Parts: sequence; C-alpha cells; structure tokens
Amino acid sequence: MSVTPFKNTRFVSCLALLAATACAPKEADTQETMTAEAAPPITGKTPAPVGPVEKDPFTYANYDEARVTNLALDINVLFAEKTIDGTATLTFERVKPDASRLVLDTNDLEIRKVEAKSGAAWTPVKFSIGPDDPNLGSPLEIEIPAPANEVRISYRTSPAAEGLQWLNAKQTAGGAHPFMYSQNQAINARSMAPVQDTPAVRMTYTAKVRTPRNLLAVMSAAQDEGPRDGDYEFSMPQPVPAYLLAIAVGDLDFRAVSETIGVYAEPSIVEAAAKEFEDTPQMEQAASALYGPYRWGRYDLLVLPPSFPFGGMENPRLSFMTPTLLAGDKSLVGTVAHELAHSWSGNLVTNATWSDAWLNEGVTSYVENRLMEAVFGEERAQMEQAIAFGDLQRELAGLEDTSLSRLQLPSDIAHPDDAFSDVAYVKGQFFLHFLETRYGRTAFDAFLKSWFDSRAFKASTTADFRDHLMKTLVAQNPGAASASEIDEWLYGEGLPSTIAAPQPSAFEAVEREQSAWMNGEMAAKAITADGWTTQQWLHFINTLPANAGSGRLRDLDSFFDLSHSANAEIAFAWYRRAIAEGYAPALPAIEQFLKRVGRGKFIYPLYEDLVAHDERDLAERAYAKAKPLYHPIAQRRVEEILQPTN
Ligand SMILES: [Zn+2]
Repeated sequence: MSVTPFKNTRFVSCLALLAATACAPKEADTQETMTAEAAPPITGKTPAPVGPVEKDPFTYANYDEARVTNLALDINVLFAEKTIDGTATLTFERVKPDASRLVLDTNDLEIRKVEAKSGAAWTPVKFSIGPDDPNLGSPLEIEIPAPANEVRISYRTSPAAEGLQWLNAKQTAGGAHPFMYSQNQAINARSMAPVQDTPAVRMTYTAKVRTPRNLLAVMSAAQDEGPRDGDYEFSMPQPVPAYLLAIAVGDLDFRAVSETIGVYAEPSIVEAAAKEFEDTPQMEQAASALYGPYRWGRYDLLVLPPSFPFGGMENPRLSFMTPTLLAGDKSLVGTVAHELAHSWSGNLVTNATWSDAWLNEGVTSYVENRLMEAVFGEERAQMEQAIAFGDLQRELAGLEDTSLSRLQLPSDIAHPDDAFSDVAYVKGQFFLHFLETRYGRTAFDAFLKSWFDSRAFKASTTADFRDHLMKTLVAQNPGAASASEIDEWLYGEGLPSTIAAPQPSAFEAVEREQSAWMNGEMAAKAITADGWTTQQWLHFINTLPANAGSGRLRDLDSFFDLSHSANAEIAFAWYRRAIAEGYAPALPAIEQFLKRVGRGKFIYPLYEDLVAHDERDLAERAYAKAKPLYHPIAQRRVEEILQPTN
C-alpha cells in the first residue's frame, strides 16, 4: 500500500490529540528544517529482539491445523443490493493429519450453507459462526469430514462490507454507470469472501464473476480476454495472501502502455492516465535488472474514482491507483514505482504478520526510490528521500506510544492498520539506505536480490531478515556494520544514531530564497520558483517557519495561486499551512478539496487540522457532503476525528 491510513487514534497526529496551543510549536519545531539536528532526540534505547510473532493475532484461521491452498469464487455483483452473492469453494490441506475443523475469517458475511466434497458429491456439513469482534469479524468454524479437502460456502456480503465500496453513477468521473471496488489490505478480504485472512497463508484463486452486461470486471489475476458481456473469468496461478485478492467493476476502458503493461480507467481519464504512467515499462526494466525477473505475467494499473482511500494498492498484476497522481507532469509517479516494487517486496516476499509490515513497506519504499533514481535520475530520488525523511520526523514527533516507532512492532498492536505508518515506510527505507552505504551498492544489491530469491512466495519475519543479513552480507564483510548498529534499527525506538539525513542540493536554492523572503530581503513575487519541481515546492511549503503569518501566505498565494494548485500534494501541503496560520482565503478551496478527494493521506490530516484550529464547522459541513464519496475505511476514520472529545 502507499501511505499511512492512520486508523488508530494512538497514531493520529499530535494535532488531534493535544490542544492547538500545545501542539503547534511542537509540530513547527520539526518543520523548520530537515537536517539531522532537528530530528527528535535519539533514545539510545535498543530493546532486545522480541522474536517473531509466532501466530498472526489478527486472524481466527487455524492455519497451523488446516490451511487453505486455493479459492474458487463464483459470484454475482449486484449493484442494486450492494452485495456480492455466490459461492466460495476452498481447497485446503491438513497440516495436522487429524484436523477435524477448518476455521475461516468472515466479517459481516451472511453464510447460507456449507458443504464438503466427498467423492464427487457435495454434502452439507456443520458449521458455526462465532461472536462478532468490531475489528476482526467472526470466525467461521467448519467440520471437515475425514477424506474431504474442499468446502463450498454459499454466502453474500453486506452492503456495508468494510472492504468494498459501491459508488453510484454520480460518484464516478463518467457519471453514467455505478462502480464497485475492493480494498482488502489489511484485514478486509474477510468482508468480501470467507478466507483465511492472514499474510501467513497463500492461495491461488479463480473467479467467475457476473456483472451488469455493460460493465467490465477486473481482478488481481489474469484478466478475462473475452468480450464485455457481464460474464468474466479470472485465474491467479501464483499463490497470494488473501489481502491481495482484489476486484473492481465499472465502465472501464483500457490503454496499452507496452506489450505487457497497460492502464484501466474510466473512459474520460484513460488517455491522461496512460500518458502520466508511460514510464512504467522503464521502471519494470530497472527493477528486473536489480532484483531478478518480474514473476507475475502482465502488470497493469487501474485508476480508481477519487474516493479510493490510498495512494495505491499493490494488487498483483493490477495495482489500484488514486487519480490524485494524475498531476500532468509525472511528478507523483513515485507511487507507481512503489506499487510495482511490491511485486518483489510484499507480494513475492510477504510479511508473516502485520508487526513485520516494514518488510513489505520499508523494503518497497527503498526499491521505489531506486527505481525513481534509475528512471528520473539521482536528484529526483534524493529529493523524494528528503521529503519522506521530513514526513518521518513529523510523525515521530507526534507519536505518543513510542513502541510504535520500532521497525518490528509489538505483537499487541491494536489493529493491523497501526502498522502502516511512516515508521514502516520511511524508517524501513532508511535502514536499507544505511546498509547500502555501509556495504556498498554492489554488495547490497546482490544481498537484496538474494533475499527476494530465497524467500519468494513465502511469508517472512523480521528475524528471518536479520538471519539472512547476518549469514550473507555481514558474514562476507565483517566490520562494515556492527550487530548492535543493526539491532538499533530493527528493534530500537525513534531515529537510530546511524541514520543519515538526506541533503539534496536542489533544496539549497529553495532554502536560500525562502530565507531571503522570510527576512524581508525580497518580495514574494521575486521568488524564482519558475522551474521548481513538485518536490522543491513541497520542501518550500513544509519548511515554512511556524510564524510565517497569514500575510506572507497571502503574498505567496497571490503570485503562485497555491490554494488552487492542481497538484494534490502541493495543494495538501499548502492547506495544512493555511489552516495552521489561520489563512482564511484558502478555506473554500479546502472545503472543495475535501468534497472531491477521498484519499486518506490528505483528508485525515486536514480534518484533524480543521478541528484543532477552530474550523470544526467547516469540517463537519464538508464531511456531511463528502461522506457518500468516501470509502467505508475513510468514513470510519473521519468520524473518529470528528467525534466530540468531551
Ligand atoms: Zn506499499
């Protein structure tokens, strides 16, 4: 996934947790500069390795007794009822030969019938559904008679299924047809089908999908190559964890970018999307050259309606992307590199539990940066590193529970979504930059390739990574890094003492202009922003001092019209500053943005900022209008933010 859903309030930025007066200086401190001096204090505390989390705590599945190996879906997508209705046939193997039950995860599923196959015949078997947990859903326990290795479950999803979003025609770009898509990471596959919903279990899958005749269905699998007739078949021959099961149905068009790469999107944006993402083949070539062949067949991108709550989701063969990446100048395609990189880190080598999420996201963020360097050059990659480093600093500064600043997270995190923070993404990425620096690029590249090769199609823990690192790179290059330095990264809190803050030279000019303008030595109109990249603008805005004042913001806005930037990242960064400074002229644009975009990275902090800075009325007014646009995941998060605190 790409970036930070921040589900749990423990991870909500300081603005939501503290009074504005107490919080603003704290955040401003970390925004002033991105040098190492401004980093939160290094704790020096390196807890002992906690060992792998033996069993995923966020699943009911008894995968140590009976393990699902294949899923065959046969489903109808019913827009009028907002449900998926059909059967799920699961093939399983008995890990324990005497296993007599198969336990699956479900969430809000109506289970009508369960059968087991004995010989050629399907026979009803006993099943029970356990109590409903608000996070985990309910276990579905099925009695499995001795010879059977297949069960068939007749079921339907709830219209409120957490993993599915049903959009009416008005909520799409085209406005003529409804749209449905899934978002199953981290634990929402269980709201789409009964499965063993843990990254520790991999399965192949097939699907027969019936939809309205004029709509196209696509899945994270080999696509149906037949006509658009409402009757589609899919096959996913590579085993994947349930969170990578994905479906979308809508008025979708397709444009090829190369022979093996293409873009699906609504007809009105498919051309622009194919143009924006035309460098994806070069990214794939760069990744294959570094880390070995792409092992999944085709790689396509699906651009979703604006309600998609994430930047991207690495559904194999078909990454799901937010339309907010379509900036027109390829400045935000790092997210494409990110989702593609997951074809090695995450989809191929998968974190065994969500406490090891840095193995998916940190490794992917590193690979993403390498692909950006290969395709767009070192300066762009350096700037993106620096922007990410600033994000990490701000996040750590707002973190109340410091145990969540560890790469290997405690096994008792409240919800898997807690694992998807900049700690996993950026601290994880910088751990790999640290290793690359110490061991040299050639040796480190060979190490990372060997990690992917040795763990392909397997679930892996932080301990597995450490073990592989020690036996290969460290053993072959004694003295380049000590075990305690490495363990400080893996198990320590906060920023490690060996982290190196990036200092891209392209930001120095930005800083000079900013400082001259802040000191009154030059007017806003004299800032030579012509030719600044998106990353330079982000640096300029993110590092504005806290006391810039709304007068200065007005000057900037009058020359650069930042309140109406078509670049979602620049607009977002600007809106945060505008809210913090009480710059009222930006508020109407912020309200429009919240009603147009459902991407969590943008909307959660903006709602938090509005509430914290006495703009709750605006926040509530925007949400009342925007709610039907937002994905259920985003609705729940925004409602948590808007809850009265006393
Ligand atoms: Zn990711």
